[in-house]
Amino acid sequence: MEGQEPFEVHDPSILAWARSVIERSPSCQELQREVVRAVRRNERWRGRECLNLLAPEAPTSPLVRSLLASEVGIRAAEGHIGPRQRWFAGTRYIDEIEALCVELLKKVFQSNYADHRLVASMIGNMTVYAALTEPGDAIMTIAQPFGGHSSNRMDGPAGVRGLRIFDVPMDPEELAVDLDQFAHVARRVRPKLVALGASMTLFPFPLREMASLVSEWGGKIFFDGAHQLGLIAGGQFQDPLREGACVMTGSAGKTFSGPQSGIIVWNDAELTEPITHAIFPTLAATHQVNRVAALAAAAVEFLAFGREYMGQIVANAKALGQALHERGIRVLGAHKGFTTTHQVILDVRSFGGGFAVANKLAEANIITNKNLIPSDRPEDWDFPSGLRLGTTEVTRLGMKEAEMEQIADFIADVLFDRVGVDRVQQRVVEMRSAYQELQYCFPMESI
Ligand SMILES: *Cc1c(COP(=O)(O)O)cnc(C)c1O
Repeated sequence: MEGQEPFEVHDPSILAWARSVIERSPSCQELQREVVRAVRRNERWRGRECLNLLAPEAPTSPLVRSLLASEVGIRAAEGHIGPRQRWFAGTRYIDEIEALCVELLKKVFQSNYADHRLVASMIGNMTVYAALTEPGDAIMTIAQPFGGHSSNRMDGPAGVRGLRIFDVPMDPEELAVDLDQFAHVARRVRPKLVALGASMTLFPFPLREMASLVSEWGGKIFFDGAHQLGLIAGGQFQDPLREGACVMTGSAGKTFSGPQSGIIVWNDAELTEPITHAIFPTLAATHQVNRVAALAAAAVEFLAFGREYMGQIVANAKALGQALHERGIRVLGAHKGFTTTHQVILDVRSFGGGFAVANKLAEANIITNKNLIPSDRPEDWDFPSGLRLGTTEVTRLGMKEAEMEQIADFIADVLFDRVGVDRVQQRVVEMRSAYQELQYCFPMESI
């Protein structure tokens, strides 16, 4: 319609900027340079000058990164591993890469089965719902203010599958499952699956107790370990497959520090047919073999460095929680030692809420995200009270407990307006300049 902007979900001013770049570019080659320049701007700022405390991020090793650009990334390889199970011929070496990846994942997670074809952990969760539930089934999952993720809720794969979703009762003080309430609700609802997936995750789950309870009616526990996957692989968090979960999914690019994508592992041979059928041919076709190669290399890094790397991540998170608490900032879970994961959660309502604080910190080159916390009501969802921090990237850059004190000083300076944001930004760039080399991986020239 004349004079009316078409409906758009993206920020119209940024799309307009892109159109103007495209229109004023004198040549196609120059246009490609514009793309590359945008990538380099991010690489310089986020890659070299920022303290990235985003909990879902992790820096991949130089080898993992280089494999993502490898030749095999242009090859098509649908189907299962082995010449008889593929649609395409010529997959001899691709089979080797994929078999290495599967066997390495099985070794890292000590599982009988693993699949390498999930281009995202969201798709892993869809796989579980497609394989283990029917439309109309009841499931129990964690609500968003307690850390639950959309993939297990109405507006994600669980909702798309047509499941009836009930909340896992959580204790807002303990930030853990309220077992008595859970027993009460679960016995009434009799969920086929209980999905324990949390993007805000500080403390372990009472998995054994929950698994034993739902077994009364043949219910199962599905652990969505998107965030904790690396910690689990590094032996720094509870081990869901050994504590009663029948299947675990997770993000390869969060604490696991591999290429952004998904992982799924399970032990029971009876689940193999439904799970792998849901993956292929249902949810994956070409599945990015370059990514599979990178995932295999990341899994090797876990065998070599996982325990030390993940142990330091948790030690750093505890130190950061303590340091922020000492500087007068409200840290969730203070009475329980702040955290047992890579995350620290702040209540920043008195500083203007998570949205304002995250944006102000970003001006000082400290990258975080706004987060729902248990006290937030549905009307607070766009402007929640919490702020989520994660220590994966700063740890892989070689920072230890002492540096967490320094980071806490930067954050406190911004929150209490003690120092101008520009001044803090300068200090962050200065501090960060000393931490540019990734740790917990083999030197590139040795490979
Ligand atoms: C991040 C996350 C996902 C989705 O993972 P992707 O790898 O981004 O697809 C699923 N569940 C939980 C709990 C998450 O935090």
